[in-house]
Amino acid sequence: GGSPIVATATTTPAPEPAPEPAFDWAEFWKFLRPQLLALSAAVMFALATALLNVRIPLLLGELVNVVARCAQEHAGNYLRDVRQPALRLLLLYGLQGLLTFGYIALLAQVGERVAGSMRKALFTSLLRQDVMFFDANRTGQLVTRLTADVQEFKSSFKLVISQGLRSVTQTVGCFASLYLLSPALTRLLLLVLPCLVGAGALIGSFLRGLSRRAQEQVAKATEVADEALGNVRTVRAFAMEDREVALYCSEVDRSSQMNESLGLGIAVFQGLSNVVLNGIVLGTIFVGGSLMAGEDLSAGDLMSFLVASQTVQRSMANLSILFGQAVRGLSAGARVFEFMTLEPAVSLCGGSQIPSHALLGHICFHDVSFCYPTRPSCQVLRNFSLNLPPCKTVAIVGQSGGGKSTVAALLERFYEPTQGAITLDGCDICTLDPSWLRGQIIGFISQEPVLFGTTIMENIRFGKPGATDAEVYAAAQLANADGFIRSFPEGYSTVVGERGVMLSGGQKQRVAIARALIKNPSVLILDEATSALDAESEKAVQEALDRAVAGRTVLVIAHRLSTIQGADLIVVLSRGCVAEVRRGALENPHSGLAGVWEAWVLWEGPSAWGSW
Ligand code: ADP
Repeated sequence: GGSPIVATATTTPAPEPAPEPAFDWAEFWKFLRPQLLALSAAVMFALATALLNVRIPLLLGELVNVVARCAQEHAGNYLRDVRQPALRLLLLYGLQGLLTFGYIALLAQVGERVAGSMRKALFTSLLRQDVMFFDANRTGQLVTRLTADVQEFKSSFKLVISQGLRSVTQTVGCFASLYLLSPALTRLLLLVLPCLVGAGALIGSFLRGLSRRAQEQVAKATEVADEALGNVRTVRAFAMEDREVALYCSEVDRSSQMNESLGLGIAVFQGLSNVVLNGIVLGTIFVGGSLMAGEDLSAGDLMSFLVASQTVQRSMANLSILFGQAVRGLSAGARVFEFMTLEPAVSLCGGSQIPSHALLGHICFHDVSFCYPTRPSCQVLRNFSLNLPPCKTVAIVGQSGGGKSTVAALLERFYEPTQGAITLDGCDICTLDPSWLRGQIIGFISQEPVLFGTTIMENIRFGKPGATDAEVYAAAQLANADGFIRSFPEGYSTVVGERGVMLSGGQKQRVAIARALIKNPSVLILDEATSALDAESEKAVQEALDRAVAGRTVLVIAHRLSTIQGADLIVVLSRGCVAEVRRGALENPHSGLAGVWEAWVLWEGPSAWGSW
C-alpha cells in the first residue's frame, strides 16, 4: 500500500500561486496591545530624538557664528564666548544619544515579544490543522512562515516605527528651519530636491525588483540543495549525485549572475547619488555665498542650512526605502496571519467519550465513500462497509493503491468520509472526542514509523505522556524491544537521531509498537511493513505484533501470509469497495488455508509468490 505521503508527493499537481492574503490589522492589534506601554514610550522617544535632530543644525550655526566672530575680531575671550553654545550642543548630543538608546531598546523589546507570540500562535495553529491542510501545503513553506516571514515582519515594523517617525519629523522640522534661515535658498532646494529624490526612488524601486528576483533565485538554488541533502539516500541509490550537482550549479550560476547585475546597479546608483549630493552642497555654498555677500546670510546660517539640508536629504531617501520595506513587511505579516486565523474542520478535542468500563471496541464502516480533498475527482472508497467485531483481527488485502491505508486514515479521523459513517460501539466517531480517540483508544503502527530525534525512552513515552519508567519497560517488553534496547551502551537513554536513523528498520518498528502499546489501546491499526526487514527482525517484529493484537480489535493492512493466516476475517479491497470477505483459518478450520491462499493470490497476483 502506498503511504499517503508518497502518494501526495507524486500525484498532486503543482499548486497554483495563491493570491496574496490581505493583512489582518485586527489580529495584529491583539499581539500589539500587551506591548502598548513600551511602544508608546518608544514612539515618544523617537519623536523627541527627531526634534532634537532638528535643533542641532541651528545650534551648530550659532557655534560657527561665535567662532567666526572671534576669528574676525581677533579679540575677546574665545573660550568664554564659545563655552555656552558648545555646552548646549554637548547637552543636546548627550540627550539625543540617551533617547536613541531608549527607543531602540524599547523597540527591540516590543519587536521580540510581538514576534515571539506570533510564532507561538502560528505554530499552535499549524499543528491543529487538518491532515488535508498538510497535503496541500509544503512543509518548507510553512516553516518559512514561522521563521523568515515573522523575521521580516518584525524588522519592518521596527524600522517603520523608528526610522519612519524620525524621517517624517526631521523632514518637516528641518524644512521649517531651512525656511526660517533663508526663504530664497529653501525655495531653490524645494525645486531641486523632490526631483532628485523622485529619480532616486524610481531607480531604487527598480533595484529592489532586481534584488527580489535575485533572492528568489537564491531560494530556488537552496531548495535544490535542501531536497538533495534531505533525501540523500534516494540520491545515492539512483547515483544521481552528478545530476543534482549540475542542477545546483546551474541555479547558483543564475543567482550569481542576477546578484552581479544587482551589484552593478547599486554601484551606478551610489556613484551617481554621491555626485548629486556633493553637487547640492557645492550649489548651496555657491548660492549661499552670494547671499552672504549681500549680507542676507551669516556664515553660521549657511552652516546651519548645509547641515539641515543634508538631514532633509537623508530623511527623504530613508522614507523612500522605508516605503518598500513597509510593503514587504505587510505582505510577510499577512502570510503569517493567514494560517493563524485558519480554523480546522475537525478540531483536536471536544466531543463525547465512552467510559472505559463500557467500551467494547466494536467498529463499523457504514457505506463509506471518500475522496481526498486535494483530489476531489478521484473516488478512493465507494460504499465501503466493514464490521470489526470486538477483540477480533480483520485483515485487509488488495492491490496497492486500492485504498487500504485510506481506510486506516479515516478510522484515525485524519479525514472525514464524504458519505456514510464510521461507528465505535454504535457512536458515530465524528461525535467522539478526537484527542481521546487518537490518544487513548486507537493505536496506530504505520508502515514506516517515524521516531523523533530524542531518546528511546521519550519516544516510547510519546504514546502516553505521563507514563512511568516501569510502564515504558513493560511496553518495550511486550514489543520485543527491551532486549535490544538494553544491549545499547546507553540503554533507554540512547538518542535515536533525526527521524530515528540510528536504528535499524526492525528496531524502529519495535520501538513504534511499544509506543503504540503503552497507551493500551482498545483498537489497533497496523500497516504492516514488508520492506527493508531481514528475516531475523521480521520474526521479532512478527512476534511483537502477535502479542500486541491479543485482546484488541485490530485492523491490519496485511502484506504477510502469516498475518492473513492468523486473521479472523480477511477482506479483499478492490477499487474502493469490499470485493470479497473470507473467514479466517482460525474461525473456520474446515475451509483451511485454501480459502486464504485463494484470496491472497487472487488480489496480490503472481508477484506475491516471490515474496514468501
Ligand atoms: P493502498 O493503501 O491500498 O495502497 P491508499 O489508501 O494509500 O492505497 O491510496 C488509495 C488512493 O488514494 C490512491 O490512488 C492514492 O493515490 C490516493 N491517495 C492516497 N493518499 C492521498 C492523499 N493524501 N491525497 C490524495 N490522494 C491520495
